Amino acid sequence: MKQERITAPFRLAEDFNLWKAPIPALTIVIPAHNEEGNIDEAIARVHTHVTRLLESYEIIIVDDGSTDSTLSRAKALAADYPLRVLRLSRNFGKEQAIMAGLRTSRGKAVVILDADLQEPLSCLNDMWKAYEDGFEMVYTSRAHRADEPRSKRLLTWLFYKLLNLGSDIAIPPDSRDFRLMDRRVVDALCDMPESNRFMKGLYGWVGFRSKEIRIELEPRMHGTSKFRLIGLMKLALTGLTSFTTWPLRIWTVIGFSIAAPSIFYGFWIAVRTLVFGIDVPGWSTLAAAIFLLGGVQLVSVGILGEYVARVFGEVKGRPGFIVAEDFSPNLDGSP
Ligand code: UDP
Ligand code: MG
Repeated sequence: MKQERITAPFRLAEDFNLWKAPIPALTIVIPAHNEEGNIDEAIARVHTHVTRLLESYEIIIVDDGSTDSTLSRAKALAADYPLRVLRLSRNFGKEQAIMAGLRTSRGKAVVILDADLQEPLSCLNDMWKAYEDGFEMVYTSRAHRADEPRSKRLLTWLFYKLLNLGSDIAIPPDSRDFRLMDRRVVDALCDMPESNRFMKGLYGWVGFRSKEIRIELEPRMHGTSKFRLIGLMKLALTGLTSFTTWPLRIWTVIGFSIAAPSIFYGFWIAVRTLVFGIDVPGWSTLAAAIFLLGGVQLVSVGILGEYVARVFGEVKGRPGFIVAEDFSPNLDGSP
């Protein structure tokens, strides 16, 4: 029972004595992992930009297992802003921190924002305007990736090509988590039972009337990126295993294309041996064929394993995150 309360706090908002508070027009969800240098400035800037637009809003900072003073700084800010701080019980990763924020959010619309202020808040105006024009999801995407190393750009390009291969839905390659979503979109995302998530795919999967806004990214204000190569690889694997099936099916095609010529080749060898007798033993051809087929089989089993691992992860039914603390002493929805 406790688990349910933790993973679906929005529907059980009475747990947090917030049900009496007015529903804010907007919730800003900020996942933060070791962002002590950025958090104060981020909240101050959000406040400035949002109060120009709206009467009521709330900010949710999701402290994703920070080991620096992010949490205490965030809590201190709760005295001055309509702020709610969720502390996850450990570092669950950005995707889960976003989900914790979405599940807790109460706003009629929700914006997801990074804590490092790389994204220009000035485009909140355009986002809100598009929202008022009837778009249910207003997402930003990078105008260019000139600041990234060539190798990273190449891998990103390859990943999105593989991800979109044979897929019914298009996942835009340069889209960001920085986006505005209507409550219906947020509810659709929260209603999905899968716990191991690739958010950029899910935003595309849920659909809704969407609009893109191109943005230029600022350099990170303080600290360094939390995503190392290995973390990005893991996320890419989650994305591929949750949104594609072609890596599983391709082995049928490969298998047939090896097996069919092999039958003819075997037949040809039999005829040749009968007609011309046995010639020099073709050990090198044999060795090459064994290595090739052995490799192909291992790769296919490995890929199968990745999907089985994903199924295993979901079958266990563990929640994607655990909220250890919910701190909202001053939240009544007004700025
Ligand atoms: N983040 C998080 N948990 C993590 C890693 C990152 O909540 O395990 C947050 C981080 O604090 C930031 C956002 O996700 O607010 C984006 O992270 P970062 O700026 O490091 O990513 P990049 O901009 O390099 O893609
Ligand atoms: Mg960043």
